Amino acid sequence: MQYMRVKRIPNEGTDSHRVLEKLREANWDWVCGTTFQQMYLPTYAQRVADLRKMGYGIEAAQCRDHEYWNHSHRGNVAMYRLTDDEEAPF
Ligand SMILES: [Zn+2]
Repeated sequence: MQYMRVKRIPNEGTDSHRVLEKLREANWDWVCGTTFQQMYLPTYAQRVADLRKMGYGIEAAQCRDHEYWNHSHRGNVAMYRLTDDEEAPF
């Protein structure tokens, strides 16, 4: 796996920071886009794009492809997960 260097850390309390914290809480598992909506982060896709620009590795996929849950979304909903992080616990 290619290791990317994190260039910038989002400021505490910003939407980007909240998205990042949620992704970290998931311990490398996927986080559904609806989770961010419930956190009042409707622009989560843009915040994920911002975090990628800062150097975070974040993978996206269709939520319907998750192996453990089936949310049965009516439309296309993305889910996200961290693929690398400087504060990784290992
Ligand atoms: Zn979902």
